[in-house]
Amino acid sequence: MADLLPEHPDFLWRNPDPKPSYDAVIVGGGGHGLATAYYLAAHHGMTNIAVLERGWLAGGNMARNTTIIRSNYLWDESAAIYEHSLKLWEALPEELEYDFLFSQRGVMNLAHTLQDVRESVRRVGANKLNGVDAEWLDADQVKELCPIINVSEDIRYPVLGATYQPRAGIAKHDHVAWAFARKADELGVDIIQNCEVTGFIKDGNRVVGVKTNRGTINTGKVALCAAGHSSVLAKLAGFDLPIQSHPLQALVSELHEKVHPTVVMSNHVHVYVSQAHKGELVMGAGIDSYNGYGQRGAFHVIEEQMAAAVELFPIFARAHLLRTWGGIVDVTLDASPIVGKAPVENMYVNCGWGTGGFKGTPGAGWTMAHTIATGEPHALNLPFALERFETGALIDEHGAAAVAH
Ligand SMILES: Cc1cc2nc3c(=O)[nH]c(=O)nc-3n(C[C@H](O)[C@H](O)[C@H](O)COP(=O)(O)OP(=O)(O)OC[C@H]3O[C@@H](n4cnc5c(N)ncnc54)[C@H](O)[C@@H]3O)c2cc1C
Repeated sequence: MADLLPEHPDFLWRNPDPKPSYDAVIVGGGGHGLATAYYLAAHHGMTNIAVLERGWLAGGNMARNTTIIRSNYLWDESAAIYEHSLKLWEALPEELEYDFLFSQRGVMNLAHTLQDVRESVRRVGANKLNGVDAEWLDADQVKELCPIINVSEDIRYPVLGATYQPRAGIAKHDHVAWAFARKADELGVDIIQNCEVTGFIKDGNRVVGVKTNRGTINTGKVALCAAGHSSVLAKLAGFDLPIQSHPLQALVSELHEKVHPTVVMSNHVHVYVSQAHKGELVMGAGIDSYNGYGQRGAFHVIEEQMAAAVELFPIFARAHLLRTWGGIVDVTLDASPIVGKAPVENMYVNCGWGTGGFKGTPGAGWTMAHTIATGEPHALNLPFALERFETGALIDEHGAAAVAH
């Protein structure tokens, strides 16, 4: 078992055996599960809890994402939860006493067509009304902020301008997971790796325990935070989720001198690029269109992503690829997450963050913890209830905003 655990100094020493019973069990030791555990323990005094992770901490999407953090979403409900999350990010390095390299270097969302421009300007207006920092930049201002970007008019999709959120940025994702895990652990939470949940024990429609590959655990409450596998777990618990799992890929280049000062995203040609603290160029693609649970994707997606990157950043033509990888993201029909109560009593579900849940890590953990501790959703996650797929009160960020990541 130990050979499955990565050689990380912080976590080699801890992998407790599960106790027979907990007040709450969180399924999934990614960012959202760990953040939920931390906020439950730190803000709600619930410490007799366990995070069950079938692999190793942050072995899922948490340490596979491209780390973009922003809150410039179109609709009021999204702006509220993502902005709350961004405010939590701003306080977290101090609160968790861990420097996870949170860098507010701004994010640009490029516009390449008249329709893009109209949508983007509308979104800047909506963001400002919601108290989210947002600016509209013309092509010259884009060039000024990010000199390596190609703003000439003779490329396939010329840059006509961009939205810009100065408070947005990046953080080191695996460090964020360790930061939440260490604090939760300090507060008494059991973080148990190599522990796969294989079923649920119910008394009528109330969950009373989980079955795992390390035995049965009795529990008062269960939270599903298993991005990519949410619908599989829901099925085991006896309900369906309107979720599809897709591979999502990213890549990094070899290390380079600092050339890229901000984060640039283009939904139109579908690439987004930042430069990590060490110097790698970090680039993400669009989702692979087929459903799947493999942490890998198709090569043509990477090819298209590279073509888009080189067109926008001609100097990248000389950069060497270091590695590519994939994660499994769970996507809802309206590209917004589900955070709230499950149709099984005392069970809670957090999923559907799709390609953009890293930025939502603290917000998801904070609202999940509130919902689990009080038994009712917070005003911030109330609109993200599963019921919206029955009532039709969708929060359609997919069609309405530059939504990826
Ligand atoms: C390539 C890529 C790029 C991305 N880029 C961005 C970005 O730039 N910005 C952004 O905001 N978001 C981004 N995302 C999305 C973001 O990573 C996810 O939305 C977010 O990480 C999901 O929450 P999590 O961290 O808890 O998920 P995960 O880390 O995937 O955690 C879920 C955990 O559940 C565990 N699990 C599953 N089944 C079981 C079981 N039966 N029993 C026990 N444990 C189980 C898994 O092993 C996994 O560790 C990206 C994702 C990918 C793949």
